[in-house]
Amino acid sequence: MISMAKPIIGDEEKNAVLEVLDSGIIAQGPKVKEFEDGFAEMCGVRHAIATTNGTTALHLALLAYDIGPGDEVITSPFTFIASANSILFVNATPVFVDIDPRTFNMDTSLIEAAITPKTKAILPVQLYGLCCDMDAIMSIAKKHNLAVIEDACQAHGSEFKGKRAGSFGTGTFSLYPTKNMTSAEGGMITTNDDVIMEKCRVVRNHGMRRRYYHDELGYNFRMTDVHAAIGNAQLAKLEKFNQKRKENAQFYDENLKGIAVPFVPGGYTHVYHQYTVRVPDGKRDDLREFLKEKEIGSEIYYPVPIHKQGFYMEIFGDEKSYPETEFAATEVLSIPVHPSLSKEDIELVASSINEFMSKG
Ligand SMILES: *Cc1c(COP(=O)(O)O)cnc(C)c1O
Repeated sequence: MISMAKPIIGDEEKNAVLEVLDSGIIAQGPKVKEFEDGFAEMCGVRHAIATTNGTTALHLALLAYDIGPGDEVITSPFTFIASANSILFVNATPVFVDIDPRTFNMDTSLIEAAITPKTKAILPVQLYGLCCDMDAIMSIAKKHNLAVIEDACQAHGSEFKGKRAGSFGTGTFSLYPTKNMTSAEGGMITTNDDVIMEKCRVVRNHGMRRRYYHDELGYNFRMTDVHAAIGNAQLAKLEKFNQKRKENAQFYDENLKGIAVPFVPGGYTHVYHQYTVRVPDGKRDDLREFLKEKEIGSEIYYPVPIHKQGFYMEIFGDEKSYPETEFAATEVLSIPVHPSLSKEDIELVASSINEFMSKG
């Protein structure tokens, strides 16, 4: 079976974990600090704050900006549920804008119409490893005095005009095993804002500035040194992993026929967390079946837009429609692109897709 994802864990990761276990410091300690410093450097920002996962990174970032009941946050309906759920965790309201059908990211020309006096933040999702138009988003945010919290959970190392995902506003990352790098479970917040950094650190650890004095409500979102040790070893390999993803993507770009390959606007660096094609004419599900018979994995990210998820419809009603998102959900298919695929794997995936598409 050619799988959709496979974490690459080598001796570096194993030895780093054993070293931590032998050291006696296994909760949040020096390895977490090292991981935060290295991650901040990778993104080109001043601070990084490690958390337990990408979902808590989003939750913590929203808390740090004091976003709460009555506030609205603008985001994409075409993403993993965590992007929008984090807004619900702080009792704020997600407000969706439709996507650009070419990039699958928020259509920035629709953002201003969605802004109300209650809007506090824009939460762009850098989907599949491609950044949104961050010039447009940052200038709208500046004009309307809004925070920008990037969901960069799929975009480690991705660039827009030479700047990395997570360095525009405050960034949030996931380190789940299927992502471009992993710490088993883990998350990271990146920011240049000293106040946000401080707030994140305090709220991550039960609102505690002074030992056992709790000035505000906090959580336990701390990463362990065991996870950070894996993260450090993976961070050292990220550029190599991403390079391999780009090479795999380039092979598909050059060889796939009859389907729309990912569109990468000039000035963007895609890191292909997913290589997602559009399969026209209602053939997507049949192609997926065909690949499955050849033992080739594929996945639909995402079959149900957030506003169509059951409990969202219960809370917000079912009148809202985002046509490009709903249409994309019927056409998208992500195919294996991860760094441990062999040349033969990639060739088989491409020739199988071409075989299916040429059957008409
Ligand atoms: C993976 C992911 C998350 C959540 O990260 P976890 O580490 O699984 O909590 C959030 N948003 C997006 C877009 C993701 O892909």
